[in-house]
Amino acid sequence: ARAATPAGPTGPGRTADGHPVKLLANIGSAANVAGADEAGAEGVGLFRTELLFLDRSTEPGPDEQAAAYRAVFTAMAGRTVVIRTLDAGADKPLPFLRQEGEPNPALGVRGLRIARQRPDVLTTQLAAIARARADTGADVWVMAPMVSTVAEAAAFADAAHEAGLPRAGVMIEVPAAALRAAALLRVVDFLSIGTNDLSQYTFAADRMCGTLADLLDPWQPALLDLIGACGAAGREAGKPVGICGEAAADPTLAPILVGLGVTSLSMSARALPAVRAAVAGRSFDECRKLAQLALTAEDPAQARKLTT
Ligand code: PEP
Ligand code: MG
Repeated sequence: ARAATPAGPTGPGRTADGHPVKLLANIGSAANVAGADEAGAEGVGLFRTELLFLDRSTEPGPDEQAAAYRAVFTAMAGRTVVIRTLDAGADKPLPFLRQEGEPNPALGVRGLRIARQRPDVLTTQLAAIARARADTGADVWVMAPMVSTVAEAAAFADAAHEAGLPRAGVMIEVPAAALRAAALLRVVDFLSIGTNDLSQYTFAADRMCGTLADLLDPWQPALLDLIGACGAAGREAGKPVGICGEAAADPTLAPILVGLGVTSLSMSARALPAVRAAVAGRSFDECRKLAQLALTAEDPAQARKLTT
């Protein structure tokens, strides 16, 4: 057995008995890298690229994109950066795509679905990411948002590999994708669970709707079931399965997520110290037992009561 080493404030995340859990930061630009460093992030688990595209009537060109990505990759040299391709539509409308007339944008053409109408936007972005990666020492992984099927995942992985990006994954934000996690892992290198959207689509509850907060609670057993299915698929395939939604920032929930088989937790930097301490406070076996208990609960309140 591995010697138990206490997790320091900046070292790699691990459980009390040394099981590794990567603790990563969510960022929107190079301006967030210093905060991630201060919090001891091992890398970036979600680089949201929308910021560059916001409030613009035209798409940023390949040079401008490559420069923005290079700024992050350079700052994170030697570490992992999971960069997400454009997640436009729904709660992140982008003027240059002129997506008018969708009666229900959350169920419309968003995330990777944009590539159905504008494959050029994806191709340009992947090429810019590949160029930026080539100039730096970062370990760059690329992933697509809002993926529902194996065919979508396979097409994305092909496009990423063709652009020269070796590590391609998809986000799990739609229940259909979580249910087919094992099949997705046959065509991609990793999964990252976006619990904000996965909650929204599992409970049919708008993520912007405060009055539905009880349905969007990350302790909902149905959400934990889907996370567990992804974790099990990852273990079986020997491939990473992370969480990059708000659920990863809940220190009380973190050991349960680890017990469900999740290999990394990515969150805003300020949440990292408490999550690091919570993961370090439990052995991997305890995490698994807590996860099993949480799955027996009938509702979030019971899940919390059984495990804390
Ligand atoms: C998510 O849906 O959980 C996620 C991380 O993506 P975003 O919040 O950017 O939609
Ligand atoms: Mg999302």
